[in-house]
Amino acid sequence: MNLTLALTFVIVFCVSSAVLYRSLVDGAMTQVRRDAMLQAEMAMAVRKYTMQDVRPLLPPSSTVLHPQSIPAYAANRTMALLEETRPLYRYVEVALNPTNPVNRASGWQVDAINAFRADSRLTELTHVIESPSGDMLYVARPVRPTAECIGCHGAARSAPASLLQRYGAKDGFGWTVGEAVGAQIVSVPTTSAIAQARDTWWRHVGASLLVFGTLFLVLNRILSRTVIAPIETSSSTWRELATKDPLTGARNRRSFEEQGQALVTACSASGASLALVAVDIDHFKRVNDSHGHDIGDAVLKEFAQRVLLASKRRDCLYRIGGEEFAMVLPHTDLSAAVAFAEVLRRSLEATPFGGAGRLTASFGVAVLFPGDSLDTLLKRADRALYAAKNAGRNQVVSQPN
Ligand code: GH3
Ligand code: MG
Ligand code: MG
Repeated sequence: MNLTLALTFVIVFCVSSAVLYRSLVDGAMTQVRRDAMLQAEMAMAVRKYTMQDVRPLLPPSSTVLHPQSIPAYAANRTMALLEETRPLYRYVEVALNPTNPVNRASGWQVDAINAFRADSRLTELTHVIESPSGDMLYVARPVRPTAECIGCHGAARSAPASLLQRYGAKDGFGWTVGEAVGAQIVSVPTTSAIAQARDTWWRHVGASLLVFGTLFLVLNRILSRTVIAPIETSSSTWRELATKDPLTGARNRRSFEEQGQALVTACSASGASLALVAVDIDHFKRVNDSHGHDIGDAVLKEFAQRVLLASKRRDCLYRIGGEEFAMVLPHTDLSAAVAFAEVLRRSLEATPFGGAGRLTASFGVAVLFPGDSLDTLLKRADRALYAAKNAGRNQVVSQPN
């Protein structure tokens, strides 16, 4: 359940972080685009200002600053000056067939102009170019000549003499009104905006991790206490009921068959020794007959407790019959098992049982042979136990050869 909760938390967190990252990056790109638009609009405003307010003041015959080209020149120059404070923010006006060869379109600029020529409704194109120094966003807007522009760019024969004198009669002519002859292109770096978006994302992820992590821990603790712990307690109670003998606290016959066989299999596989000690209280029937069944029960309980105490292991004693018990001792050879049984026999004999007086027990010891199952091992231990009974009880007999 805790794992499900943790998994749900991780999935929700990853998905929401991914969505947040996408929207922050998209937001940053929108901002960059807006920056680019603003630049293009600034360039247009400079052009307009120059055209409307400056150009009429210039002498028409000026050859230093040609009145016709002053708007484009002013826009390019202003934006170039802007670059001094905002490096990488660039503005250019390019054409497929410019008067001044430095304004000739190339690469993606040509594609953009051709796209504007093919579709007269197209007003803007964007393009991202990746580079090791950082990605750049390019925004292009079409330059479509007005009737006034055609005065210079329509045909060389009608162009001003000063223009022909400077650039010759080869390029920059043949333009028609409204056709896309070039483009205004703004380029803006995206790196710092994206880096800022990433920064914001990391801060959000950090804060969310802190909040959701704490929430998860609290929720986990509450769930553990109110749901998981009671379930575990009740399931361990059920497990105990299923494996333990309720009277003596020793493990029951079913448990003996399962765990005993598992130990036999494990020791057979690893070649380790294993001993099985069968114990039966001597003349137990007499206890019942003389003192009653309740005292008999109390004796069985005390007997199991004393064996457990002597063996120092709570998981090795099984009640396999009415007053018969078995101990499974892994990594114990015959002499160690016989010695252990002898110590036990003496201690049982030495201390009387409350209400029933002095009692003894007989022991049958067998060790694991190759090919043994729990059943064959128990049979040999039982044979040894009966031998102990036949030999007069209160003794330890090991398996016959
Ligand atoms: P031996 O020395 O040959 O083992 O003699 P014994 O009297 O101990 O053996 P026998 O098998 O004749 O008798 C076992 C008795 O144990 C019979 C049965 O009533 C009694 N018994 C079995 N389970 C319980 C129990 O849970 N409580 C009580 N009080 N007596 C039990
Ligand atoms: Mg008995
Ligand atoms: Mg018996």
